[in-house]
Amino acid sequence: MKFKFAAINPQTKVKMYNKERKLIRKLNTSRNHKLWSPNKDLVDSIKKLDKVRSSDITELKKTIKKRLIALHGGQYCFFCNKEIENMRLLHIEHILPKANYSYLTFSTINLTLACDVCNMDYKKQKIYLRNANSNYRGCTFSIVHPYLDNVDDHLDYSGFIVGVNNQSIKGANTINEFKLNREELLKARIIELFFIKEVDGDLLDLVRDTLTNNYN
Ligand SMILES: [Zn+2]
Repeated sequence: MKFKFAAINPQTKVKMYNKERKLIRKLNTSRNHKLWSPNKDLVDSIKKLDKVRSSDITELKKTIKKRLIALHGGQYCFFCNKEIENMRLLHIEHILPKANYSYLTFSTINLTLACDVCNMDYKKQKIYLRNANSNYRGCTFSIVHPYLDNVDDHLDYSGFIVGVNNQSIKGANTINEFKLNREELLKARIIELFFIKEVDGDLLDLVRDTLTNNYN
């Protein structure tokens, strides 16, 4: 297991090019028409045009994932910073869940990378929206957002314990919601930082005490 030990702080969202944008527009309008358009005639005409091949969607997902990896500096989970070698266990994570916000399924400002544990065991379908705005950039979130926040303002990834910077409530929420100091991660980070083979019980107790004193 490997970690980045620095915040993943992409300065920009993934860029999409003309052909891809066209496909995304098509997907957004055809699949999720009910969500945004009250105009039935328009919806019907779009439906007729709705001939998107599933292979095109698969290709689009692959492209997005590849560009996210480049943007995030490797195959790392945005939340726990663990390196995920198996691509299938590295998911495209929808910050606003696609189950509720299907029109954001391919909006790159809503996409990051998460390991299967952070995504499936902790994030699930939770909605961390604090204030909604019709413009995504105007929304505020209760967890750290990869593009709308400067991650370093909120979280410290430099040690084996993920810490809070500037007493950030958002940072504390993110640690808490994703259990970024779960035992499995603590052990692996200690092993990597101190070049040791395994973490014994005494050391882990000491780390647990530090956590209790600082973060509770
Ligand atoms: Zn993770």
